[in-house]
Amino acid sequence: MVASLNQDHAPRVALAGFVHESNSFAPSPADMAAFEQGGGYLPLSRGTQILERGRQVNLPVAGAIDHAESHGWDLVPLTWAGAVPSAPVTAACYHAISNEIVEGLRQVLPVDGVFLDLHGAMVAESAPDGEGPLIARVREVVGPDVPIVAALDLHGNISAQMVDEADLLMGFRTYPHVDMALTGQRAAAELGRLMAGGASFKAFRQLDFLIPIAWQSTMGQPAAGLYDLVAELDAEGVCASFFMGFPAADFADCRPSVVAYAESQDQADAAADRIAQAVREAEPAFQGRSFLPDDGVAEAQRLAATATRPVVIADTQDNPGAGGDSDTTGMLRALIQADARHAAIGLITDPQAAAAAHAAGVGAQIELSLGGKSGVEGDAPYAGTFTVERLSDGRCHATGPYYGGAHLQLGPSACLRIGGVRVAVASEKAQMADREMFRFLGIEPEAQAILVVKSSNHFRADFAPIAEDILICTAPGPMPLSPARLPFRHLHPGIRLEPGGPPFTPPAQG
Ligand SMILES: [Zn+2]
Repeated sequence: MVASLNQDHAPRVALAGFVHESNSFAPSPADMAAFEQGGGYLPLSRGTQILERGRQVNLPVAGAIDHAESHGWDLVPLTWAGAVPSAPVTAACYHAISNEIVEGLRQVLPVDGVFLDLHGAMVAESAPDGEGPLIARVREVVGPDVPIVAALDLHGNISAQMVDEADLLMGFRTYPHVDMALTGQRAAAELGRLMAGGASFKAFRQLDFLIPIAWQSTMGQPAAGLYDLVAELDAEGVCASFFMGFPAADFADCRPSVVAYAESQDQADAAADRIAQAVREAEPAFQGRSFLPDDGVAEAQRLAATATRPVVIADTQDNPGAGGDSDTTGMLRALIQADARHAAIGLITDPQAAAAAHAAGVGAQIELSLGGKSGVEGDAPYAGTFTVERLSDGRCHATGPYYGGAHLQLGPSACLRIGGVRVAVASEKAQMADREMFRFLGIEPEAQAILVVKSSNHFRADFAPIAEDILICTAPGPMPLSPARLPFRHLHPGIRLEPGGPPFTPPAQG
């Protein structure tokens, strides 16, 4: 093999991103408008826009830019697109963005390396494995000798095609993903090593059970210990990743997996087997306690009676980070029914309600049918009279460790109060994972007795430090706590639908 890096010139590296986590069962698909808006990521960016916007945010692209600049790379930014998780990417949008990346790359050849910022759990209407065919097309353009490295989300559902076509895949090691930028940096360093002619043998293992996202937190066990093991292998010169997977993508590679890269095939195989075995042994430990909405609020009130800090409730089944629309009302209803005091819930995404609040003005009382518009079974809008307490244009600087300084554009937003409950309403969808997402509407999170967040785990990064306790609640939503409740059709036969759970049998055709 010819080493592609000529010592006489700065390595010329193409940079592109296409990031989406797709829930096959969620209510709304991701179209071009979703990527243009960017919801929680960067808005669709091209060329130097990527370098302007992709800094000082907690995303792999930021780490890659950092590494490239500090190592004097000639970085060629192509296209970077990311959208908030949802139902699969529309076929038209998937092809448009993929084509833009692939054709953009063709036009800037020759390059010494390609850095891709991807998710790993993108499903397109036309391609159940969104990343595999995209990496294959990138490979086709650059040929067999130019290294391709992809930074991926810990929730990636990794396919053999992805592993085969890329020289190296690297996933986050934290959930909440506080190491996204760091992963970009580490992946870029690996790309540098490969461009310099470094060897890389690969091993790939897939696991046989789905892991509910609520039990994947790396701030607790068993995930923390498994990622400690992954990190231990760094010292042995093995670049390994454990992907817990995103258990709502209806295709055969929806499952946890391990990849390992090393100096020899034996070493890569041994490392991958060691991690995979540890994951198998941890299967029964991926579990936790959850509450129905009314029980959860009652428990929160009981705890709050003697607490000095807020009790935080995760409205996990409507987590927009898992494809929910962030608009279900089950937890709001439970708070109001229990006459909760000093309580706040957010974000409820409802552009109509936000517009009505802006039209009425601060201090006005308005009748609303709030949220509940995404048609989730068992959910409905909440009809009531709300006081408009605060209005905002939706610009929110999210400074906590998850968003890491991102400037969110949440559109016209409002704080609406009903009884002792304040509702943070926004026009655009973004996961409640930063205290500023309450504060920009005048709600001081630390001053609340109960905080309900539409998130499964990312909220922990910024809310765990102020939480008296954290409760997981299961109000109706599009992302059931247990994947066993999803109407899968195309999973790998025999895979357990939750830890220790029933094996999947494909439904009869027709
Ligand atoms: Zn993720």
